[in-house]
Amino acid sequence: MPDPAPMVPTTPASTPATAPASGDAPRPDDDPTNDPDVALAIDIGGTKMAAGLVTRDGVVLGRRQVATPATAGPELLWQVLAALVAEARADGVERGDPVPMACGVGCGGPMTRGGAAVSPVNIPGWRGFALHDHLAGLTGLPTAVDNDAKALALGEGWRGAAQGEADYVGMVVSTGVGGGLVTDGRLLDGADGNAGHIGHVIVEPDGHACACGARGCLEAEASGTAIARITGRPAAEATPDVVERTGTMVGRAVASVAVLLDLRLAVVAGSVALGFGAPFFAAAQAEIDRRARLDYARGTVIRPAGLGADGPLVGAAAVAWAHLGDQILGGDPMPGGGEVPAGGAVAEGGIAPTARQ
Ligand SMILES: [Zn+2]
Repeated sequence: MPDPAPMVPTTPASTPATAPASGDAPRPDDDPTNDPDVALAIDIGGTKMAAGLVTRDGVVLGRRQVATPATAGPELLWQVLAALVAEARADGVERGDPVPMACGVGCGGPMTRGGAAVSPVNIPGWRGFALHDHLAGLTGLPTAVDNDAKALALGEGWRGAAQGEADYVGMVVSTGVGGGLVTDGRLLDGADGNAGHIGHVIVEPDGHACACGARGCLEAEASGTAIARITGRPAAEATPDVVERTGTMVGRAVASVAVLLDLRLAVVAGSVALGFGAPFFAAAQAEIDRRARLDYARGTVIRPAGLGADGPLVGAAAVAWAHLGDQILGGDPMPGGGEVPAGGAVAEGGIAPTARQ
């Protein structure tokens, strides 16, 4: 599995010590009497879809991924996803993994609460697609869907660079810019579940036009798409000036969020941020130090996410375990797994796979 961010030191100490990087690595639980609970984790983005099994300790046992046919119709998109899920489950059977007991999903937003209807900006083929009910019907498992950046933020608090933190923002700076907010040890949802869209915080009042209709949004200034549009070159070929400006923009948004929500930590994933590496983080930190001036917000720190390439699937699994009642955030290491409520969470009525919106 190629590491999408080879330039960046992720935080090795925050990765579970026994975690294999992929399904090809030796499994930590060869003893069948010691099989861990596992969740089926699914990550759905505009570029790729991934599915795999993740233990209750956050270890990715194996994964499959496929390019997203983003402009295909809703039915073809669904067939591609359903085939991917079937392959990931078959891989698990072949490895002798336990049968997954829950399904967790991170999907590009926006969406209505719980993924009842998803309309990912980068997957034009799905508008108001009933993702939750399709997946619950397909898998027969208790299923939970959340925004992919919120899922990643949850995963970073569970097993990544924000472990033990009750107040932080988790961000993704890649093709787009997304985020999830954790305050008082809870992932914020907002009225429709879309809280944390830091990509549409204004960082340049007269800046570039954003796809959302506004100007100067962080996503319109600092995403990989924006960098390519502004400079005429892909983010991977950015000059030091562009790297510094991108970090400054991200730091500006984080400073506002830190003051607004009284938090002290931002963890950042994504190919642009992690690919730019240390100069990006230094510029972001300098901007935070310049802009967050109230006493309580001084000392706000920005650092790279800790889960690397596993982040999206670990985040999706965190959504599943949280749905089953596990305490994911706030520093409880949960080494043996949380209690499953008797009977588990219901599979939301076990909607038939033929249900369509
Ligand atoms: Zn915008």
